[in-house]
Amino acid sequence: MKRSQLFTKTTKTTPNDEVSNSAKLLIRAGYVYKEMAGVYDFLPLGKRVLDNIMQIIREELNAIGSQELQMTALQNKEVWEATDRWSDDVMDVWFKTKLNAGGEVGLAPTHEEPITRLMKSYISSYKDLPVYAYQFQTKFRNELRAKSGIMRTREFMMKDLYSFSKDRAEHDEFYEKCADTYKKIFNRLGIGNDTFRTFASGGAFSKFSDEFQTLCEVGEDIVYLDREKGIAINDEVYNDETIKDLGLDKSKLEKCKAAEVGNIFTLGYRFSDGLDLTFNDENGERKKVFMGSYGIGPSRVMGVIAEKLSDENGLVWPEEIAPYKYYLVGIGEAAEKICAELTEQAPELILWDDRKGARNGEKFADADLMGIPYRVVISDKTLAESKIELKNRQTGDIELLTLEEFKTKLV
Ligand code: ATP
Ligand code: MG
Repeated sequence: MKRSQLFTKTTKTTPNDEVSNSAKLLIRAGYVYKEMAGVYDFLPLGKRVLDNIMQIIREELNAIGSQELQMTALQNKEVWEATDRWSDDVMDVWFKTKLNAGGEVGLAPTHEEPITRLMKSYISSYKDLPVYAYQFQTKFRNELRAKSGIMRTREFMMKDLYSFSKDRAEHDEFYEKCADTYKKIFNRLGIGNDTFRTFASGGAFSKFSDEFQTLCEVGEDIVYLDREKGIAINDEVYNDETIKDLGLDKSKLEKCKAAEVGNIFTLGYRFSDGLDLTFNDENGERKKVFMGSYGIGPSRVMGVIAEKLSDENGLVWPEEIAPYKYYLVGIGEAAEKICAELTEQAPELILWDDRKGARNGEKFADADLMGIPYRVVISDKTLAESKIELKNRQTGDIELLTLEEFKTKLV
């Protein structure tokens, strides 16, 4: 990609009402555009990061036998009435609108109801179970507070996975498998060391739910962390009984601020009951399907990563999710020509700053602000010694390579 073709520009100014560091950096570097409080557009660079985050999640979920689908955001009132969640008193974040043809629809805050109804068309026998289905879908929530940039927005990307099992035992097995997979996902996303499985409030079918909380100063949650065991308790269920239940030692628990990046929940028969999702077991007996739901917020995750892995010069993306791997700067005519060739060879890996009017210092500052993992400087002078300079954004380490050595990194 050539920088001259990217329509976004970096800027020093940010909206006055933007308080979180991640939002300021993402706006300054041209990753997101703020439409209004709690509502953002993902610009070309931001879209690439979000896509990369979703791709990691997709790969890991496919590896445990889940299938991706895509559902509509428009919600049928009757389906939500069946589980008593249409009322604004019960679900206080609804966005609803009237149809010109008559009637009302809602904008999905989550998808338990429609997916449960959908599965009635495909699940009728024990042979049809288990089913694990997920999507990446825009959710709408009329959030009261939206001050944390893309970490809490009124329209956001959610990965929501739903499990449909024959019984509790089958459910529990997948639940644990999914918890392990979440660990893998957060490791690959570069926040594994600071992300902890956290016991939070459950429901009628389990004492606790499991949240995945990333330690983060601007996070909205409080957790009590046992670092040695790598587990935490959410403030909402923090009491002597829970501590005892979990076999933890109160004196070892650290109070920390954290952001919820994902959660998993045993739904049991909550939705299969309301929407009558049943199957015939081996003995021909009619049984209710046992369900679970498993969320991750890719757009919130992007904000959390931006918040945690940035420094005074800008963003610092882990390699696997960066929009490009190399930020190329050519100094001199021969060097520019080589940059053009390299960019043509690897347009998905390279962002070449080919802007004519920009000074080298400006280009270096942008490379830092955008958080591209490696800044590559090719100059006529160093080319004479057949060396090009590779600077690691995270460590600041500089490596000198021959052109041939660099080319082998691009295949
Ligand atoms: P929170 O407690 O932060 O309000 P939640 O418990 O309501 O979130 P879920 O309904 O389980 O969250 O949603 C699954 C995931 O979606 C969350 O773990 C989070 O990563 C993400 N998420 C939830 N609400 C938002 C939001 N308003 N903006 C961005 N991401 C969100
Ligand atoms: Mg929550």
